[in-house]
Amino acid sequence: MNSRDRLRSALNWVNGSTLLGLALAKLAGCEIRPAPRGLLFAHGYSPGLPKASAFTVGNVVLFRAGHAEVARRPSLVAHEARHSAQYALCFGVPFFPAYFFFAGLSWLLTGDPASRNPFERAAGLQAGGYTERPVRPALRRVLRRRVLRRVSVPRRISVPHRPAPGRQPRPPRLPGQ
Ligand SMILES: [Zn+2]
Repeated sequence: MNSRDRLRSALNWVNGSTLLGLALAKLAGCEIRPAPRGLLFAHGYSPGLPKASAFTVGNVVLFRAGHAEVARRPSLVAHEARHSAQYALCFGVPFFPAYFFFAGLSWLLTGDPASRNPFERAAGLQAGGYTERPVRPALRRVLRRRVLRRVSVPRRISVPHRPAPGRQPRPPRLPGQ
């Protein structure tokens, strides 16, 4: 465990998110065991929600699968470890409203809660088992039209006044002239 892992782990104990993850794992009847990088793996999660094959709460990574299958997916473990760091950065529980806000926004934009969700993108879409979906075609057209309208509006540029060619600027009047 490096110093970053230690810091992340300590912050998630202090902000309460790891305790919440442990309580959830206990309630779901998972088998909990210590894992590398200060994480705790909870295997055998079976409730219907969330539908993901794995999810993280604090330092606790809850898997539907057992040890053997998880050991074959190191990229998924790395993805969940990044989510654990996101809990530490969000001071624990505020991660939930922030995550669900962006999941909803991503769903509105693409029909998928992960594709435009910055938390999932930062954790690695592919590693998390997601396929990036494009912005819905109808929305893309609206967004493109808006961008084009903004670009086509002429900007006001202040051009310094220049006399017409061939005309010299008048000399300033002196007092008494
Ligand atoms: Zn994820």
